[in-house]
Amino acid sequence: MGVTRSFFIALSKNQALNSGAKKWGLKLGAGKVVAGTDISSMMQSVKELNANGIGATIDNLGEFVRTKEEAIQAKEAILETLEAIQVYGVNAHLSVKLTQIGLDVDFAFCLKNIQEIVAAAARYDIFINLDMEDYAHLQQTLDILEALLKDYDNVGTVIQAYLYRSEKDIENLQNVRLRLVKGAYKESEEVSLQDKKEIDDNYLKLIKMHLQSPGYTSIATHDHHIIEEAKAFVKEKNIPLNSFEFQMLYGFRTEMQKDLAKEGYSFTTYVPFGQDWYAYYMRRLAERPQNINLALKSFVSK
Ligand code: FAD
Repeated sequence: MGVTRSFFIALSKNQALNSGAKKWGLKLGAGKVVAGTDISSMMQSVKELNANGIGATIDNLGEFVRTKEEAIQAKEAILETLEAIQVYGVNAHLSVKLTQIGLDVDFAFCLKNIQEIVAAAARYDIFINLDMEDYAHLQQTLDILEALLKDYDNVGTVIQAYLYRSEKDIENLQNVRLRLVKGAYKESEEVSLQDKKEIDDNYLKLIKMHLQSPGYTSIATHDHHIIEEAKAFVKEKNIPLNSFEFQMLYGFRTEMQKDLAKEGYSFTTYVPFGQDWYAYYMRRLAERPQNINLALKSFVSK
């Protein structure tokens, strides 16, 4: 791991800075990649995306949930966002991290919380994506997904191409709506590919597999090479446009996002918002050092 990446990952985990940042409002350029700290400003951004033919998957940011009280608070905030999607009448669904609603506290408690969210979403016909976190939480996330799929079909998850086991997981989840990503965490050699080229190759392989399965495919990447290869494959195999979409993060490659939507592809932007923006932003800086320019420029001009 490069020094810069380690530095920003370390900053993202600093709890004092995380709590401090909740009181600051969006600072250090975070406003470019976080869509506000409250529902009404976030909804403004979602409306703008919708006006460009782009849907949203909304993430109520939240980190370091260690108690039942914090998890319940996060669940209530997510339910409030769900209501807001209805009230504002926007084209949006939700992305949820299970650790935010108690996965590290107690499995059964977390399952009950996500059941409540998925049931409420099902009443509005809104999809809920279970974001995939680090490897330590993967099996539990898939177990929770399996339990939810017994009663609901408005739920899916994320598969990370850097993991050796992902091909098997995709085979087992052929009917499920899946977001496919390269993978954002630092994982060991025992469980994951380390070489960028190997990860990219596996990513394309998994994309092709799921595009040919009944489950809906969300191709979530900023990598134009992958996007071009996916487009060519879809054309070659006559895969219907309504069986897949592209996804990118809010504030990244915004022109390309609009262009893909204009070309007629379904497109969804991942829209994070909330007071807990700090760790998310530090992870984005770690991922792409070019973003540091954003932070520095805004810091200097403040
Ligand atoms: P990279 O490998 O980062 O980039 C490939 C190439 O694309 C670069 O070399 C560059 O040429 C170009 N490029 C990339 N970004 C830019 C840019 N901003 N501007 C110009 N060129 C650029 N990970 C998880 O582990 N779990 C999740 O639940 C999860 N959800 C995600 C949801 C969405 C919508 C997205 C987009 C990503 C998600 N990720 C998730 C993160 C993902 O795993 C990757 O870490 C992240 O997307 C970086 O990889 P990449 O595919 O975008 O391409």
